[in-house]
Amino acid sequence: MRTHHCNELRSSHVGETVTLIGWVNTVRDQGGVIFVDLRDREGVTQCVFRPEESPEAATASHKLRDEDVIQVVGTVAARLKTDTVDTTNDKLATGQIEVVAKQLVMVNKAEVLPFQLDKELSNEDLRMRYRYLDIRRPRMTHNLRTRHRVTKTTRDYLDEQGFCEVETPILSKSTPEGARDFLVPSRLQPGSFYALPQAPQQYKQLLMVGGLEKYFQIAKCFRDEDLRADRQPEFTQIDIEASFVEQEDIIKLVEGLIGRIFKEARGAEIPANFDRITWREAMDVYGSDKPDRRFGLNFVDLSEELKDCEFRVFSGAVAAGGVVKAINAKGFADISTGQIDKLTKLAQAAGAKGLAYIQARGDDRESWRSPFVKRMTDAEVEALRSKLNIQAGDLILFAADQWEPACDVLGRVRLECADMQNLLEGNEELNFLWVTEFPLLAFDEESGRYVAVHHPFTRPLKEDEEKLLKGELSTDLRAQAYDVVLNGTELGGGSIRIHEAPLQAAMFKALGISDETAAEEFGHILDAFRFGAPPHGGLALGLDRLVMLICNEQSIREVMAFPKNNKGSDLMSQSPAEVDPKQLRDLRIQVQKKPVAVVTAPQG
Ligand code: ASP
Repeated sequence: MRTHHCNELRSSHVGETVTLIGWVNTVRDQGGVIFVDLRDREGVTQCVFRPEESPEAATASHKLRDEDVIQVVGTVAARLKTDTVDTTNDKLATGQIEVVAKQLVMVNKAEVLPFQLDKELSNEDLRMRYRYLDIRRPRMTHNLRTRHRVTKTTRDYLDEQGFCEVETPILSKSTPEGARDFLVPSRLQPGSFYALPQAPQQYKQLLMVGGLEKYFQIAKCFRDEDLRADRQPEFTQIDIEASFVEQEDIIKLVEGLIGRIFKEARGAEIPANFDRITWREAMDVYGSDKPDRRFGLNFVDLSEELKDCEFRVFSGAVAAGGVVKAINAKGFADISTGQIDKLTKLAQAAGAKGLAYIQARGDDRESWRSPFVKRMTDAEVEALRSKLNIQAGDLILFAADQWEPACDVLGRVRLECADMQNLLEGNEELNFLWVTEFPLLAFDEESGRYVAVHHPFTRPLKEDEEKLLKGELSTDLRAQAYDVVLNGTELGGGSIRIHEAPLQAAMFKALGISDETAAEEFGHILDAFRFGAPPHGGLALGLDRLVMLICNEQSIREVMAFPKNNKGSDLMSQSPAEVDPKQLRDLRIQVQKKPVAVVTAPQG
């Protein structure tokens, strides 16, 4: 159908007869001569229809409209360039030549499109409804091709490292990753349901018991969650598991993988090794388990200095075993009242009673604007000044509470404050980080029980193993779990796993899973661990998020071919949709149109 693609012809092709096929990107009529920019996924080539070359093609060219698919046969000619006229275009790779058309075939006529392809469109629903048109835009084509580059590189790299790609079932059984399952009814066993995998977690561990040693999969995962900008009901993970490994082995492997991906898909060289901090340190200094370290605003602990402060919010928190922490937003003393309100609301939404602050307008404490600074002693003020390095023009923001909630609140304030100050404007840095030693358990106040921070198959640190076995539970137990973070976004996470039935049983018990439920739900894995299970561990990277960051996009929808909208609908194919009553009958399913009382599934 073609001899060349639309970004191939150069001056060296002048004189050749060529055939091109593609979409009409633009049509211009210049005094009866029609100029068409013909586009395919590679680029654009200008085609000229001159009556003297081919009257027939020239006549037909007058009917061309944007997005028609046409085939053009013609001769490559140099574009006119003299002392007075220059029709070449240096911005275009094919800008030195044009194809003088001899023949034009209308392959497929296009009606007027519902939106213009060369303009950004804010109506995302419209884009989704005509996604196949949206994908024609160079930006989307580029994103999907980058995604391919990422998966190809992943496969190449992991293959070189001896990893073997194995597909695991989509019709599977519930595996707890902390979200709700999508269920698929079984026709052959009415009343029974498959769960779509939230992750291939148990299968990959069972492959280790199966002796595969090094597994990976570009795996589809399904989680029935409320959708946010970076969430989709179905998404893709680069899922990895290996036997006879320790945390260090997984970290090295993944650093190598990410390095290769960034090189191949973005042409970026990144450090061979990423910094590492423990979860405790990440929370303590940045108030986040996925800290963005491209800017400062690090926390300073003032518990000792303010433990006797007359301002009860501070001294009271310390007396109750909590902490006082603060950040110095350099040069932000002129923050507006509206901005202070916004930060306060953010702190309140995160559980704080309010937000204590000091606007240090001048050097002298008298010039400091703050609801409580008057109630501080000179010694306290001096301690603040030196520990926070306060200078005229700075804004100090505080959190006082138990350690974890205080860190969490100040962490959110820190991010918003950086945003208000535009601290990341023009920042091109790629800041990678490992966060290690996550807690094994968290306490869920609502259900009054412990839940797994990562998932129930995660191994405690050696030092904490005994405690788990003995049932000495607390949120201080640490896990051999690690996350890899880029610029404040979690790229992925994993852990070294439990591979012994007694330790796994102890973990289930810690999570309040009865022996019967454990046998029913996880009998296969407990059994498997009784027949010679190798020590193993792994990790999963969120492919969509990784590609999103590589493509500098704000949403994973921009790097998925056919994503769902925030109501979980595919507007193009109109799914989910009602089904034929006969299909329901086959499945012995009755649909109740009225909402019924909902029991929330336990998380964790
Ligand atoms: N299954 C985990 C997840 O989806 C990853 C892992 O532990 O390997 O987050």
